[in-house]
Amino acid sequence: SSSLHANLWQCNTLEKARQYLAGSRDSPLILQNYISDTYTSSSQYIDSFNPQTGALYAKVPLSTPQDVDHAVLSAEKAFKSWSKTTRIERSKYLQKISRLVEENRELFAVWESIDQGKTLERARTEVDRAVSNFSYFSTYILHEGSSVRLIDGVALTYEHRSPAGVFALISPWNMPLYLLTWKIAPCLAFGCTAVAKPSEVTSMTAFLLAEVIRQAELPAGVLNIVLGNGATTGSALVKHPRVKGISFTGGTATGIQIRRDTAGDIYKHLSLELGGKNPTLVFDDVDMQKAVATAAMAAFENQGEICLCGSRIYVQATIYEEFIQQFTSFVGEHYKIREKVGAVVSLQHYQKIQSYLLLAEKEGGTFHLGSIPPESPNKGYWIEPTILTGISIDSRVMMEEIFGPVVTIAPFQNEEEAIELANDNPNGLASVLLTRDGARMRRVGERIEAGLIWVNCWLVRELGTPFGGMKNSGTGREGGSYSRDVFTNLRTLHLPS
Ligand code: NAD
Repeated sequence: SSSLHANLWQCNTLEKARQYLAGSRDSPLILQNYISDTYTSSSQYIDSFNPQTGALYAKVPLSTPQDVDHAVLSAEKAFKSWSKTTRIERSKYLQKISRLVEENRELFAVWESIDQGKTLERARTEVDRAVSNFSYFSTYILHEGSSVRLIDGVALTYEHRSPAGVFALISPWNMPLYLLTWKIAPCLAFGCTAVAKPSEVTSMTAFLLAEVIRQAELPAGVLNIVLGNGATTGSALVKHPRVKGISFTGGTATGIQIRRDTAGDIYKHLSLELGGKNPTLVFDDVDMQKAVATAAMAAFENQGEICLCGSRIYVQATIYEEFIQQFTSFVGEHYKIREKVGAVVSLQHYQKIQSYLLLAEKEGGTFHLGSIPPESPNKGYWIEPTILTGISIDSRVMMEEIFGPVVTIAPFQNEEEAIELANDNPNGLASVLLTRDGARMRRVGERIEAGLIWVNCWLVRELGTPFGGMKNSGTGREGGSYSRDVFTNLRTLHLPS
């Protein structure tokens, strides 16, 4: 096992982690891959920075196509026996993993916060969700069955599923452990094996998870964790001929690239959860205080770095001025940087957000809160929550995903215009609808082009409901039986009666 793990396992409070990092200032932590049941080193590394301080703190392996091949073959070998285990056996492993993550909640939360920039409080909720990802699928598989149908009194049919094989599980940097386990848990539960690759920007909690996998004594090769970037590591993984499916969460451009790279491999199952630029619609019949609080949470939770964040707020003209005033004062009071709003994930991302703010200024937008952050931050990548109005509807600021603590507000006159504005975007992941009119909830909700609509709430999740987007926000759905569809092959048997 890795000696780094032995040290990290002692760092289960922020204080201890900070002391440990202070002691290793001149020698960053060197992460490793976990392939078969062995930690392996790499010949090349990627620098990983602490977003809250800007300090280099870890080195992430830049795994080569050979490393990827090694991991895929290990997963393929393990598939032979793992795919034949009973549901009860797999359930027990998942429960064990779930328990181990839960027991190490603070360890995972502390390092997620250090690695990603999010607040510790936010990180804790995401670790809790990672625990539920494992416990949910550990029980889900125990309650499944297939129904038998009789056709015209002459034949019986039934559906039979089998695990599809080795999967590539690829996740982004915004909710690292939560999103990777959302793939790992169903993948293993439905009898597949995996090579998981977290984002090169945030690989720390995947590295910690490898140790949990080892402690849970999961059979060798069932879950391999390979670290590296997209161009070299991710690309080799999705193109690998022995990989039978890809569950990917990340940006739309990468999703398009993966589709291209696998265009000839019809056999590959593809589930793509991509970007969003989600609208929040505020009608004039709302309870203003509640509407403001929900819209603010949807905009600024996790610094706006959630694919589901509502970054375009449209408000009915009759309450437009009042909403701007109350929203601005609420956000100013409740979304304080460092307390509730963390640092953005990387210097590159900081600069991307900054470029949109410069564009907003150039286009004559009004900043109700926030301002242009300095070009080169000297201590961490901090961006104040920013509220903009006066941005034209076809501006890139309005059309493109900024993925930071930035929100635009614009008015609408009536329901029809609200729907038009909401749908006037190439993405279609999520939407928030704020109104007290029950008929309108359905009338408008059923016309918004988004995979997920939240009415008077946001981010409410039940893990059996379908999760995913329309339009450029992705293909396929995950969650409960929808995840089962991703990870299994379906055959229909016809028997004479
Ligand atoms: P990204 O697309 O740059 O990277 C995502 C992952 O893909 C990383 O692990 C990366 O290394 C890998 N990758 C990059 N190029 C690859 C390639 N050619 N082949 C294979 N793998 C490759 O996204 P990001 O910047 O890490 O994350 C932010 C994006 O993720 C945002 O657009 C956000 O909306 C989206 N997101 C979507 C959801 C959802 O559920 N729909 C959830 C969270 C984030």
